[in-house]
Amino acid sequence: MTMPQPTVLDTTTDLRPATLARLKTELETALRSHEERLVQDPEQDDISMTVYRRSQEAHDEIVAALSRMSEGTYGICETCGGAISEDRLEVMPHTRLCMSCAHRAR
Ligand SMILES: [Zn+2]
Repeated sequence: MTMPQPTVLDTTTDLRPATLARLKTELETALRSHEERLVQDPEQDDISMTVYRRSQEAHDEIVAALSRMSEGTYGICETCGGAISEDRLEVMPHTRLCMSCAHRAR
């Protein structure tokens, strides 16, 4: 196991930027179709409004992750400043916190 190098992100071999960009596009499509439904029928039930808000939050997280990538701060925990493990980034590419800070924040 080698230590992750959060400040050196090789965008030519790292698939995460592409994965995040694809997720962002998918969420934007989902949000747009939800907004169209809202215009036609403003009385949406709670479940679909919850899904809508969650999608918006996920979209914001992904946009933030992409901007961290371009700033070179991607993969650095926002709480302790330590490196977020590759395994964790693999599962949650938009995460802002390392494993132990995420557990503490719960
Ligand atoms: Zn941390």
